Amino acid sequence: MALPNYIDLAIVGAGVQALTLTTHLLQKRAKYYHKFLAFDPSQTWLSQWQQQFAAQQIPCLRSPAVHHPDPNPHQLRTFAEHRHHELFPPYDRPGTKLFHDFCDEVIRRWKLEDKVYRGKVVDILPIKRALHPRFQLVLDTEETIMTRRVVLATGSGKMQFPDWVEKIPLNYPSETLCHSQQVNLNQLKLTGERILIVGGGLSSGHLAKGAINLGATVTLMTRKQLQEKIFDADPGWLGPKYLKDFHAETDWYVRYQQIQQARNGGSMTPEMMLQLRKASHEGKIQIEECCQVREAHWQNNLWQVGCHDGNKHQFDRIWLATGTTFNTKEHPLLQNVLETYPTEIVNGLPVLDEHLRLPKSNFFIMGGLTALQIGPVARNIHGGKMACRRIVPAIIKPSLAIG
Ligand SMILES: Cc1cc2nc3c(=O)[nH]c(=O)nc-3n(C[C@H](O)[C@H](O)[C@H](O)COP(=O)(O)OP(=O)(O)OC[C@H]3O[C@@H](n4cnc5c(N)ncnc54)[C@H](O)[C@@H]3O)c2cc1C
Repeated sequence: MALPNYIDLAIVGAGVQALTLTTHLLQKRAKYYHKFLAFDPSQTWLSQWQQQFAAQQIPCLRSPAVHHPDPNPHQLRTFAEHRHHELFPPYDRPGTKLFHDFCDEVIRRWKLEDKVYRGKVVDILPIKRALHPRFQLVLDTEETIMTRRVVLATGSGKMQFPDWVEKIPLNYPSETLCHSQQVNLNQLKLTGERILIVGGGLSSGHLAKGAINLGATVTLMTRKQLQEKIFDADPGWLGPKYLKDFHAETDWYVRYQQIQQARNGGSMTPEMMLQLRKASHEGKIQIEECCQVREAHWQNNLWQVGCHDGNKHQFDRIWLATGTTFNTKEHPLLQNVLETYPTEIVNGLPVLDEHLRLPKSNFFIMGGLTALQIGPVARNIHGGKMACRRIVPAIIKPSLAIG
């Protein structure tokens, strides 16, 4: 595909949230088909998602069957008519393969196969003027394109590391200390190895299970007690139950606190908890709750780890399932744009208008960075759907447009 000089809408990223946006846009305005393009280094939809599920050998989603990129909430259940065994209780959570096949079908049905242009966006330059303000996108291939609107949908945030990691001398083999996003279980042989996994979220559980299956023994260390929750945030955050008061709150810092409290660090599903307890009884995993690493160093081909309780341990590998953070000030594509369209930033999150735009601009944001408006599920599949309800009208209704 040749890159046009100009497009009405450029979507940066081709993940689940971007796909959700395109289907919702086309449902409301089929004619918009020729007016947008998504940009992603992979040139395909959902590459990051597929890679993460494969690397951590995740058997099924955490979210229910009604959460998916198609505008019709029942579409996945209809698609699974003859594949009911791939919907898992509770709430019919789709198996990984079923979800992938469904998303492929969504891409086909909405004719989106050729709507992703290969390229990493390395810069976004706002061209501000009274009439027809624009953005110029610069790709890693040095190609450029002018666009009227941008939707930033770059996803997963920045890997978060505990403080003690920064103090480790750099004399260790890099593959022995990884963030959970860097671990690929399919490429490892772990027989007889001892692995420390830090963090109490579901990724820790998936990696622990995977490592045990590969013949390792695991120590799972969490700052707090392990929390058991079906979803990462209470379903009340998907609708008015909690969102009514959240949206009525005018103090952004209070909203930020509410988001933190709702997510409250990581949590495990009851199903994962059961599997970990079983593995613990079998001596394959040791679960150290309310325990923190104080320092670690690489010596004699092993990690020597000292904890705050004074105990010392040795491991072959350390995996940090310590999550990601969303920070406007650290997003490489936001710096130029914020200079032209400044906004208040609250603990890293931008204050956006009700259509998720930087104020007075045609620059929209999706994903975790929209949590002050969307709430604690902003980064999830359903958060993308909630974002579409705000973004799509501002794109298709001239009365809501800027510039
Ligand atoms: C292991 C895991 C399991 C999850 N399971 C669930 C679940 O079951 N249910 C749920 O609701 N949520 C789940 N989530 C949360 C969330 O839905 C996913 O993180 C999802 O991938 C977010 O979609 P996204 O489109 O925002 O980001 P991504 O899927 O990460 O997509 C972003 C895309 O942007 C591209 N990109 C980044 N920078 C650039 C750039 N500069 N130029 C061009 N392209 C760029 C990337 O290549 C990527 O393809 C899970 C998250 C993880 C990590």
